[in-house]
Amino acid sequence: VFETTDIQSAASRTWDVIVAGSSFSAMFFLGGLRSGLRVLVVEKGQVIDHDTQLSTRTRPQEVFAHENLSDHPKEWVAHTMFGGNSNCWWGQVPRFHPSDFRLFEDHGRAAPWPVDYAMLEPFYAEVEQVMEVAGGGTEEVFPRSAPYPHPPHALSLTDKACVAYRPDLWFPAPSARSNGGNRATCCANGVCRLCPVDAKFTILNSGKAFTRPDVTLVSGAEVVAVDIEGEVAKGVVVRDSAGRETALRADLVALGTNAIGNAAILLRSGVAHPALGRYLHEQASVALVLDVAHKGYFGGTSITAHCYGFYDGPHRSEAAAVLIETLNAPATVRPERGRWTDRMQVKLIAEEIPAAENTVTIDGADDIQLTWTGHSVYSRAGLTRAEAGLAEVLPFEIEDVVSRVVNTTEAHIQGTHRMGADPASSVVDGVMALHGVSNLFALGSGAFPTCSPANPTLTLSALALRAGRSV
Ligand SMILES: Cc1cc2nc3c(=O)[nH]c(=O)nc-3n(C[C@H](O)[C@H](O)[C@H](O)COP(=O)(O)OP(=O)(O)OC[C@H]3O[C@@H](n4cnc5c(N)ncnc54)[C@H](O)[C@@H]3O)c2cc1C
Ligand code: SF4
Repeated sequence: VFETTDIQSAASRTWDVIVAGSSFSAMFFLGGLRSGLRVLVVEKGQVIDHDTQLSTRTRPQEVFAHENLSDHPKEWVAHTMFGGNSNCWWGQVPRFHPSDFRLFEDHGRAAPWPVDYAMLEPFYAEVEQVMEVAGGGTEEVFPRSAPYPHPPHALSLTDKACVAYRPDLWFPAPSARSNGGNRATCCANGVCRLCPVDAKFTILNSGKAFTRPDVTLVSGAEVVAVDIEGEVAKGVVVRDSAGRETALRADLVALGTNAIGNAAILLRSGVAHPALGRYLHEQASVALVLDVAHKGYFGGTSITAHCYGFYDGPHRSEAAAVLIETLNAPATVRPERGRWTDRMQVKLIAEEIPAAENTVTIDGADDIQLTWTGHSVYSRAGLTRAEAGLAEVLPFEIEDVVSRVVNTTEAHIQGTHRMGADPASSVVDGVMALHGVSNLFALGSGAFPTCSPANPTLTLSALALRAGRSV
């Protein structure tokens, strides 16, 4: 959807803005910029269209050098291609709970946010319009300035019973898997990592929402570093597939290469801040299959409901908030005649306290090195609390716990250049502009100072849109 160029042609002119990356954070920042600016989008990977992804399963993924010091396997998932992880995400789009922005103020945990729910709310509403989000019924918990663009997907039978039992705790899960709008309607087959009918929002299927005549894309160009002269960003250095490096000039640079990529680029650029590359984090989660005394399944999409029964409260000083997702498909069938669907699949997702010792560093060969020390006592305590109390938020008996799996990843990469009002403790400010370097933004969930149990992409997109508007 964008006009394209090559690296040498891009180097022959000065751009108003260079945006590194082409996924949610890069595109919503672009969407927020005023028209008339000449923008170059610099993408490390290639454009791989949806048909090619389906027929060849070609979806290049980063392999990071990773020192895992924990007692549990750990993965960090980053796809390097046009649209990044939007190609493989599942489209879960809860807003952060208003209390997520006050974890430090209310519970003395982690670090303060420089934005709150009310400041972000209009941007949430705009992003939901662009993503054609299907949702509803959550208005009392999440105040809204505009209704959801499309109604929520049909709930599963167990979800319906739960909503009827505790309408204060159970809600339809908002989804960027279509239930009306321009994309095909989601049909709940549950292979959302590569949706065959293109029902979920991706940058590829919705790029026209961001394109303008003055935006140009160069692909196959890895941003290695930002050129910073006298505390002002002047452009970037890119590397092609043959290893050749070229300088590209711009008046403003925005990095949207995810929390690992952004930290690496800033470290290579000579940005020295005690928090840079630290506090790498994501949620801890447990997947449960439960045999229950109620019919289940038959909802309208793959993940249908959320439970907030273990989310906010005084416990949050010691034990994490937990969000519960119910999975409708792919369903595993109960092996008893007449009781095939008397089963629930749930995922318990706990917030995390970002820890300074979980890091992104650059090794002697200029390559990325990750160090992970494991999930905290805090997140584990939240999961224990939610598992122990699960029966209390269900209106039917749990007959058996069929399986319990501690996940190796939530596929959310967060922390590493956290935002804040205080330049001494934070890398970027409230609009994600670097403290101490002019004309440089670091976008995405790398800026999160705390870790909501909610999926990050709606929030990081709203923050990126707000950052673009600030230029
Ligand atoms: C399987 C899976 C399911 C998920 N499901 C959900 C979900 O349901 N809900 C949710 O909220 N989140 C989900 N996520 C997380 C979500 O995908 C990320 O939060 C989101 O993609 C982050 O957006 P981003 O733009 O910051 O970074 P990314 O999507 O990681 O994109 C980074 C971009 O930068 C490019 N790039 C990288 N390095 C460089 C470089 N040096 N120079 C130039 N370009 C570079 C990449 O190719 C890519 O285009 C899921 C992730 C996965 C993997
Ligand atoms: S449930 Fe099926 S149709 Fe819906 S987004 Fe997932 S893969 Fe696509």
